[in-house]
Amino acid sequence: MALGSNLDGREEHLRRAVQDIAKLDGVSGLVCSSLYETAPMGPQDQPDYLNAVCRFDYTGTARVLMGQLQAIEREHGRQAGGRRWGERPLDLDIALFGEQIINEPGLIVPHAGLAERSFVLWPLAELDEALRVPDKAGGAVAIRELQEQCQRFGIQQLAGGPLGHE
Ligand code: AMP
Repeated sequence: MALGSNLDGREEHLRRAVQDIAKLDGVSGLVCSSLYETAPMGPQDQPDYLNAVCRFDYTGTARVLMGQLQAIEREHGRQAGGRRWGERPLDLDIALFGEQIINEPGLIVPHAGLAERSFVLWPLAELDEALRVPDKAGGAVAIRELQEQCQRFGIQQLAGGPLGHE
């Protein structure tokens, strides 16, 4: 899953969020990428983001996970509403859920913006350079191929190693 923050102590939000996620019911074996500093998508009159991804085993459904992640976003002061692609203390998205393709109201997996988001593709490849992303045709595309088709736009990997792990 993908994490982002561009308000009020960005790194602290991400570090705390990772600890919160690791403690969720059903989550085990969590590993994280490094932090990436990223120019904002959409409105440019907002601070740069910090982004990372983490991977874990999960015993529940994607829908239940999304509810748990939204509760963590709220605990970090995320308000409902706000402008599209606008600033936020914490954004948690399900980038991938194993090999599953989900297309339901309010839940699209792989995440609808995945192929255009360098700040998700690069950290995902950092965790697993052989990762394959399922596609609607029943096949899968290599993360490398998605990276080749996406500009590595405005992202900088920060030194300091993985954000956290169990
Ligand atoms: P955002 O502003 O990125 O946090 O968007 C949140 C909305 O995106 C939520 O209301 C979700 O219903 C919807 N959504 C659709 N697919 C996903 C996904 N894969 N992960 C997280 N949110 C999703």
